[in-house]
Amino acid sequence: MIEQKINEFFGDADSTGFGTGWWSGLLSAFFGFLSLGGVLCLHFPQLLSSPELRPHYPMHTLRVLIQCLIVGAIVFGIFSSIKRKKKNLALTGMLLAIAATALGGSSVQINNTLGNGPAIGLDWFLLDLFLMALIYVPLERLWPQYPTQGTFRNEWTLDVVYFMSTHLPIQILSFLVLLPATQAVKYLGVPVLQHFIARMPWLLQFFLAVVVADVAEYFIHLALHKVPFLWRFHAVHHSSKALDWIAGSRSHFVDDTLVRGFILLPLMFGFSQSIILAYLIFVTLHATWTHCNFGPNAKWLEKFLVMPRYHHWHHTSQKEGIDKNFAIHFPWIDKIFGTYYYPAQWPEKYGLDGEEISPSFLGQTIEPFTPRRKRTL
Ligand SMILES: [Zn+2]
Ligand SMILES: [Zn+2]
Repeated sequence: MIEQKINEFFGDADSTGFGTGWWSGLLSAFFGFLSLGGVLCLHFPQLLSSPELRPHYPMHTLRVLIQCLIVGAIVFGIFSSIKRKKKNLALTGMLLAIAATALGGSSVQINNTLGNGPAIGLDWFLLDLFLMALIYVPLERLWPQYPTQGTFRNEWTLDVVYFMSTHLPIQILSFLVLLPATQAVKYLGVPVLQHFIARMPWLLQFFLAVVVADVAEYFIHLALHKVPFLWRFHAVHHSSKALDWIAGSRSHFVDDTLVRGFILLPLMFGFSQSIILAYLIFVTLHATWTHCNFGPNAKWLEKFLVMPRYHHWHHTSQKEGIDKNFAIHFPWIDKIFGTYYYPAQWPEKYGLDGEEISPSFLGQTIEPFTPRRKRTL
């Protein structure tokens, strides 16, 4: 298994605490990987960057970022190789950074005029991975609910593959979801409603959009659980036995497309593009956060806003939590529809309740389309 090979190659039995050279080695490898990817995007922008994102890039800032990543990979690599016996992480990081520099580093010029042809969203994958890891990994390491569950827990590579699968083909995914939705706005947009909403303060418009989106999400999510054919696709998302920020990425593309389509459609009736964009950023950050291995809780807030413990109960395989907590933003939506379950403690078990699904990405992608599912119970 690839995951085992990676863990064996980079891991060791030494302590992974701060100052042991573990985190600096990890940062070196991560920064080296990102910097090399960034330089490749500069070399082949037509192929490796998304046409939708290109016009919005602050290129000078991105070049400075790539330069910082190269320097960071080298500095952390040197520190880690001094501190740690096993140097594979540090050496990998430094080698990647040296390769990025040898290929021209951050100063690679883009001379061609770029067209709108097909492209792989490597830029989007690298940027989002960097941002998400920057936000959520420190939160999970500093205040974990399950301290023994490391960042590289079982099946972490599977979830990285899922993360890639929703970022690299960005054009196909936005074609599947955003294009039908923007087309729909032509026919579905209700001018009276649009004008009425546009006159409200921005924050109120945004709040209203989140409510509308979450009610829509509630019903499609309920259907994904209750309709056996749809559950086959959604079961993939529920197969994680340990939750963290990247576990939220594990989702079949049919599941993803259905949910996003269902959420976007009602938003198209009356909300402006800027509100919808703000909602998309909010849902990405909030949905990722609710999967985090993050213990602290704000008692005053948890009745109004979904916290990690709330969505963790949605993922439990314990009987009392099954088919509960469908909302992703507001727990009171579940209260209204009678599917609210929120005890003071955390669940003990996660994953599917007695169902077996394929362990691989490819298997999980194909299996739901085939009629029969293996069942162990
Ligand atoms: Zn679910
Ligand atoms: Zn989830």
